[in-house]
Amino acid sequence: MRMRMRMKIEKIKDRSILFTTTVPDGWNLNVHLIMGDKYNYIIDTGLGSLNIAPVKEYIKHDNKPIIVINTHYHWDHVWGNSSFPNCTIISHNLCREMMKLNWENMIHENGQHLDGEAELYLPNLTFETELYFPEDRVRIIYTPGHTIDSISVIDEAEKIINVGDNIGDTLDEIIPNIYGEKEEYINTLLTYREMDFDTCVSGHNIILGKQVIEKILNLL
Ligand SMILES: [Zn+2]
Repeated sequence: MRMRMRMKIEKIKDRSILFTTTVPDGWNLNVHLIMGDKYNYIIDTGLGSLNIAPVKEYIKHDNKPIIVINTHYHWDHVWGNSSFPNCTIISHNLCREMMKLNWENMIHENGQHLDGEAELYLPNLTFETELYFPEDRVRIIYTPGHTIDSISVIDEAEKIINVGDNIGDTLDEIIPNIYGEKEEYINTLLTYREMDFDTCVSGHNIILGKQVIEKILNLL
């Protein structure tokens, strides 16, 4: 039986929309849509085909090609990938490897959260350090920390960054789980600090301002 999930759809600025699912255990999960001039960017694909369906529905009358971005390989960010069989799916090189390696195990251990179908559909455009879409001013950079394959997406036009799970899940747990090297995470925070944005989206937390970066640096 399908568990009941609530989804909130919230406009962040002119061309960014946040789809937040509240999972029955009480945690939140964000999928972020950036509607660029050239492409629609969907950042993370959630818990499966039913969970990502409202995002596809939202842009069903928009003919721009979709670019999917996986911020890292964890199950709650990639299970909707197979809903985009004809799309470019971008991730870090390591994300593709880790998704392939951990797929069966992630389904086995967290299958109770699956919402619809999830077939293994790996990223088909991977990179090492950075990708840039100049027409949309969307930049994707390697930002290890939460995991070794974590990436971030910056909408330079609207000054919004999506840091994936590099910020903790709630205000009370603002420091994320760090599965990689702490040094690398600190370097990533210092990189964020130098960047030009005022709004910070992450995988599970509420929408925050840039000061959250300084706050985490002070707590580490
Ligand atoms: Zn994660």
